[in-house]
Amino acid sequence: MMTAKEYVESLRKLNTRVYMFGEKIDNWVDHPMIRPSINCVAMTYALAQDPQYEELMTATSSLTGHKINRFTHLHQSSEDLVKKVKMQRLLGQKTASCFQRCVGMDAFNAVFSTTFEIDEKYGTHYHDNFKKFLTFVQDEDLTVDGAMTDPKGDRSKAPHDQADPDMYVHVVERRSDGIVVCGAKCHQTGSVNSHWHIFMPTISMGEADRDWAVSFACPTDAEGMYMVYGRQSCDTRKLEDGCIDVGNSKFGGQEALVVLDHVFIPNEYIFLNGEYDFAGMMVERFAGYHRQSYGGCKVGVGDVVIGAAALAAEYNGVEKASAVKDKLIEMTHLNETLYSCGIACSCEGCPTKAGNYQIDLLLANVCKQNVTRFPYEIVRLAEDIAGGLMVTMPSEKDFSSETVVGRNGETIGDICNKFFAAREGVSTEDRQRIMRFLENMCLGAAAVGYRTESLHGAGSPQAQRIMIARQGDIQGKKQLAKKIAGIQSK
Ligand code: SF4
Ligand code: FE
Repeated sequence: MMTAKEYVESLRKLNTRVYMFGEKIDNWVDHPMIRPSINCVAMTYALAQDPQYEELMTATSSLTGHKINRFTHLHQSSEDLVKKVKMQRLLGQKTASCFQRCVGMDAFNAVFSTTFEIDEKYGTHYHDNFKKFLTFVQDEDLTVDGAMTDPKGDRSKAPHDQADPDMYVHVVERRSDGIVVCGAKCHQTGSVNSHWHIFMPTISMGEADRDWAVSFACPTDAEGMYMVYGRQSCDTRKLEDGCIDVGNSKFGGQEALVVLDHVFIPNEYIFLNGEYDFAGMMVERFAGYHRQSYGGCKVGVGDVVIGAAALAAEYNGVEKASAVKDKLIEMTHLNETLYSCGIACSCEGCPTKAGNYQIDLLLANVCKQNVTRFPYEIVRLAEDIAGGLMVTMPSEKDFSSETVVGRNGETIGDICNKFFAAREGVSTEDRQRIMRFLENMCLGAAAVGYRTESLHGAGSPQAQRIMIARQGDIQGKKQLAKKIAGIQSK
């Protein structure tokens, strides 16, 4: 397994093309707006080296018998699924951010089981291709981005009906040695700092969409592939001197637009190529795993938000107020409810035909549906406890300014430190830090990961409601009611 340092160094060897603010970023590894997201993924490597987290962070490969990072593992049991959620909660607690590497893990498990069933029906060799690829990923301990969301253009039209065929990733040329693909994937988590990508379709497809029903792996620095980095709220604070105003200067998430401009994919890296009737299965399985994931990662981040709110109350001297205590209880209740859903859909897991384990789809969708709501309430309560200072406090530079403003020679720094003083025994700087941290979590760059990603990541709320409708078995429930009510009619 790689160390965190080796992971960061391995990124420098790639020729990944990254654009930001209209320009190519050559040293993107050390760019202050990108580096926090790299630090986050590096944590998935660092914790795997720590003996106290070995149980959660590592696993034994079902393909090679080697010890591997759990982020590259094919889940072999419900216990593995539970450990996955616990690992994600741990990472959320350590980074207070989206640590990005889960999309690859969820893609591995979805593509592994789907390719098995495609081969079973069509006699193709996608499953073997995939096993070879994953063995390489596990042995090299790579980070792989699971890329699903196409730009989609006119939402009322199928891929083949779009005015611009690139609105969904598609095959533009079939050769004896492989395929050439074009298109893009939007808001790709952890794209820039992944070694490889797995591309998957984003919706169920019909016969006319055959060229769009495609899944494959390719290196992040493949010829013809590039990324345009996504902006985040308050992101340019990361370019300022100092770190307090950033809130969480060490860690952060990352999203980008990934463009495929005539990228050649050799046959050995193709996992779906025209078998349109399996596009939906791949989507459903990936989405199911990723909806389970949110019952771990967002809970870990929630733990930090709750802790920060409790500290803010303490620094303000109100931690004993019953109203504050009750808000912290409510936040904990909401957060643990999300965790319960993540654990429940894992415990109810079952084996796929290919042998790896899948979560209970209904419960995973219920989990994610709750995630579209509860973090918003947790954040509302955190803002309530923190008070308005969270968004009105002068800058870090003011607190250290030596500019004289007072009649007795007081500096701006003296004035800020005087009027923003916390309760006795707590430094003004600590109060400043926790307020800025909460600002970051509730409406700054980290809110991308904790709020909007909770809503739209792994599918927007309506996508879960469709799955809940499909899996909810209303007919079966009607029969239960009829039987007890004594209704004879069918
Ligand atoms: Fe992992 Fe959560 Fe980020 Fe998805 S949103 S990649 S599950 S940390
Ligand atoms: Fe996500």
